[in-house]
Amino acid sequence: MYIVFEGIVGCGKSTQTKLYKKYLSSKYPDKEIVLTKEPGGTEIANMIRKIVQGTNFNEDMEYICEAYLYAASRAQSLRKVVKPTIEVGNYVISDRNFITSLANQAFGRNLGVEKVLEINKEAIEGFTPDKIIFIDTPVEVCISRLNDHDGDKFEKLGIDFHTKVYEGYKQLSKLPMFKNKWITIDGSKSIEQIQNEVISKLGL
Ligand code: ADP
Repeated sequence: MYIVFEGIVGCGKSTQTKLYKKYLSSKYPDKEIVLTKEPGGTEIANMIRKIVQGTNFNEDMEYICEAYLYAASRAQSLRKVVKPTIEVGNYVISDRNFITSLANQAFGRNLGVEKVLEINKEAIEGFTPDKIIFIDTPVEVCISRLNDHDGDKFEKLGIDFHTKVYEGYKQLSKLPMFKNKWITIDGSKSIEQIQNEVISKLGL
């Protein structure tokens, strides 16, 4: 099983992926439950994360360059971490996957779904998640949660960007390729309420 948590920054993904890993680990002690996040999960993928999100350059990064860097990181982590885990019958819980690029790059950066899918085609080779948990938290709530800490490049982008991404997720949920796997959870509830809803809706 490849389970992916999606949503805009501050929606609660990292909180919920950690809790869900704890839940699955205690339910299936004989299975390996791998928690990973994109971009990241391997040394090279982490380095790409640093370039694309955590470095101040003296030039703007072209949006198309940004999209390729995310795809490159994904090409590495899918093959090194996700696939080998799934192939032996274990579980991967991922904080983000290529759906994030569709939301951020296709909608947030206006590159369009077709182009971002094309960029990611070779990187994912048709390997898509079994279940998508979309944590649906209002943009204003997410931004107020992020005000408490120093964020990366994406966290610092303004409300207009995050609203475009949020609306993007809503449109993506209707695409035939995601429709049957997409589970929306109300992210404005308490951490515990959301966790219970994730557990019951995934039903694993
Ligand atoms: P993401 O990984 O989606 O960016 P996080 O899980 O890191 O979001 O959460 C962002 C911040 O909001 C953290 O400080 C976290 O403790 C807090 N938070 C997460 N879920 C909730 C919730 N349901 N209610 C209130 N605060 C939350």
